Amino acid sequence: KSGFISIIGRPNVGKSTLLNAILGEKIAIATEKPQTTRNTIRGIYTRQETEEREGVQMIFIDTPGIHKPKNKLGDFMTEAALNTFHEVDGIIFITDDRLSKGPGDPYILEMLKKVETPKLLVINKIDKTGPEEYRRAYEEFEGTGIFSGIIGTSASQGKNVEDVIKAAEAF
Ligand code: GDP
Ligand code: MG
Repeated sequence: KSGFISIIGRPNVGKSTLLNAILGEKIAIATEKPQTTRNTIRGIYTRQETEEREGVQMIFIDTPGIHKPKNKLGDFMTEAALNTFHEVDGIIFITDDRLSKGPGDPYILEMLKKVETPKLLVINKIDKTGPEEYRRAYEEFEGTGIFSGIIGTSASQGKNVEDVIKAAEAF
């Protein structure tokens, strides 16, 4: 089994940290290039086939240009991002907060609504938010009806990263 997965989200939500946690020692390629206008392959996760389980290869893509466009170039990059959403097998949208807290996430969600590709929500930094805040974030995002699954993680502590890998395999 093999698939392409887009990891998206505002700056600083923990995309790179989560990807590193996913790749762990199975790391094949990891670049730390700054964002360019091109799509960047950030890492390939491989799990060898065993007698019990089939092998898996997942190619993670960091999608640039997801922000509210301020000009023509911004429009173009956002369009390009939207196109890649149609081409991947799954989208992992990472946030660290509630929807109502900032303007960044609602904009991305509007874009996500337009694509049929399966979408997983990762609410990261649960080590910091606490259970009450997490529950409210969960309910708020669940209410959008956009996501096939929601997982709370602490990427920096490696918490629930296995669940993200399992959900990504199921895309
Ligand atoms: P990106 O811009 O989305 O790629 O975010 P980064 O992966 O670079 O993380 C941004 C900052 O958040 C860094 O200082 C990370 O150490 C921190 N961070 C990432 N994941 C977690 C987490 O689960 N908990 C906490 N407390 N901090 C995190
Ligand atoms: Mg990053």
